[in-house]
Amino acid sequence: MHVLVLGGTTEARRLAEALADAPAGGRRVRVTSSLAGRVAAPRLPPGEVRVGGFGGAGGLAEWLREHRVDALVDATHPFAATMSRNAAEAAAQVHVPLLALRRPGWVARDGDRWHSAGTLAEAAGLLPALGARVFLTTGRMGLAAFAGADLDALWFLVRSVDAPEPPGPARMHVLLDRGPFTLDGEREVIRRHRIDVLVTKDSGGDATAPKLTAAREAGIPVVVVRRPPVPEGVPVAATPEEAVAWLRGRP
Ligand code: NAP
Repeated sequence: MHVLVLGGTTEARRLAEALADAPAGGRRVRVTSSLAGRVAAPRLPPGEVRVGGFGGAGGLAEWLREHRVDALVDATHPFAATMSRNAAEAAAQVHVPLLALRRPGWVARDGDRWHSAGTLAEAAGLLPALGARVFLTTGRMGLAAFAGADLDALWFLVRSVDAPEPPGPARMHVLLDRGPFTLDGEREVIRRHRIDVLVTKDSGGDATAPKLTAAREAGIPVVVVRRPPVPEGVPVAATPEEAVAWLRGRP
């Protein structure tokens, strides 16, 4: 059984590890993990790894056919909407079963001051009314949304794995770092940089959740960018274990 895992997330790596350790349904599983190639030095999963785009849905469909893929798991980040759409299209074209592996989104707790935004641009629009020193944790892609002249008075602490490229906020400091992050570390970032508003995608998961606790403790508002929907008709697993169970159930 050949499984292609579209990766770039902790869950994708965990799934590849789980399949390497305990083959689905007693059958030998060949796992290929696919990475977009955005991160210079990614953490690699066990099994085969391929890097780079497929060339749209058509290219992915061709790849699935050529490499005799029996099941496709879209374990990309919840915000990698183009790849998820392409996966749904390609799987339908070549009749390969598709599962989306999506960690659950975060849920607000007592004391949280969350503001919901549909897009990065909408998040940027909310900022002037909320604070002046922004901790921006939405990643290095999409920083152009925060480049507008209306945000020139704001200062941004931009945290990303690799250095961002312009366009971006007029006044910013870049903090190169990669999760998981600790609560103490996040408290210190907010204190040292006198952060008064946090911006995050609703990525979910534990690795980057401590910033939400630190923001709650500090009493600062958080702009949470909502997830794009999973393509219609695609079944969803919340954990790598659920994905393994789904693969076990394949004929
Ligand atoms: P995207 O906008 O949905 O995808 C853009 C293009 O990148 C796709 O059309 C595809 O190119 C290629 N691509 C994306 N994921 C791929 C994968 N796993 N393997 C091969 N090609 C891939 O994606 P994105 O938001 O830029 O995310 C890129 C990668 O970073 C994903 O693997 C994702 O899991 C990871 N990531 C994203 C975020 C985020 O916030 N978006 C956060 C953490 C990690 P072709 O059309 O040429 O096939």
